[in-house]
Amino acid sequence: MPVVYLNGDYIALDQARISVLDRGFLFGDGVYEVLPVYGGKPLRLDEHLARLQRSCDSIRLSNPLDRDGWAAVIGEVVARNDGGDLAVYWQITRGVGAKRDHTFPQGVAPTVFMMASPLPLPSSEQLERGITCVSMTDNRWLRCDIKAIALLSNLLLRQAAIDGGGMEAILFRDGYLTEGAASNIMLVKDGKLFAPPKDHLILPGITYDLVLELDARHGVPFEVREVAEAEVRNADELLLTSSTKEVLAITTLDGKPVGSGRPGPVFRLLHELYQQYKAKLSK
Ligand code: PLP
Repeated sequence: MPVVYLNGDYIALDQARISVLDRGFLFGDGVYEVLPVYGGKPLRLDEHLARLQRSCDSIRLSNPLDRDGWAAVIGEVVARNDGGDLAVYWQITRGVGAKRDHTFPQGVAPTVFMMASPLPLPSSEQLERGITCVSMTDNRWLRCDIKAIALLSNLLLRQAAIDGGGMEAILFRDGYLTEGAASNIMLVKDGKLFAPPKDHLILPGITYDLVLELDARHGVPFEVREVAEAEVRNADELLLTSSTKEVLAITTLDGKPVGSGRPGPVFRLLHELYQQYKAKLSK
């Protein structure tokens, strides 16, 4: 039975309970993080914690733990779930109000919940053949930079993509690429990587930053700028990045091949560099 953390206690998953008046349950009033852990070691912990702090600040929620406090809880949850390769998920909500009321309750402690699950790494088939995606109109709110637990639009978009035979929805707003329903998207044209800017329309992905860093370190040219839908449809390669998917090649979009229809050289290089980066964690 997985062990989870709830408001200071480490308990079996099936013993974890929250109030029906919790604002996360009633309103989706909270923020979250997902941290990949390899061989028991977190990847980019400080970056995930910095993003969590920004999410808390953006919704006027006081972060209940500091860096060392979070590191200790994460370490304990990882250890109590036998380490290995895990996705650590945690959320902070604005706590339990006295009644259902939109106004923020005063003097209420936030609810903190953390769990760890096996990291669902890409399959060898996904790595060798790439994945299929479906494009959708981005109809989410205008604060996609906040990692908010209220994910209804993302869920509807992702499910529509799956119902349409894809693994992920590629989102466009006003003719420009934003991101995936649960991932960031970049494109390659003539050997150069292009990534949409980290503004209010996308989540500032930790993997996005890592991929651009790996690019810079290995001399792959890249540019951060707005990417038009037509460029996406004419790309040589399309890349998907996220903490649980790492880097994947999108080889089919809306039933049409992307570039050659096979994972391309920039994907293969970045995949290799990512594996090397991960391997260094255990040394
Ligand atoms: N964009 C969205 C909407 C996401 O939900 C995620 C991750 O879940 C990402 C981008 C990728 O972020 P990260 O690389 O930090 O996992």
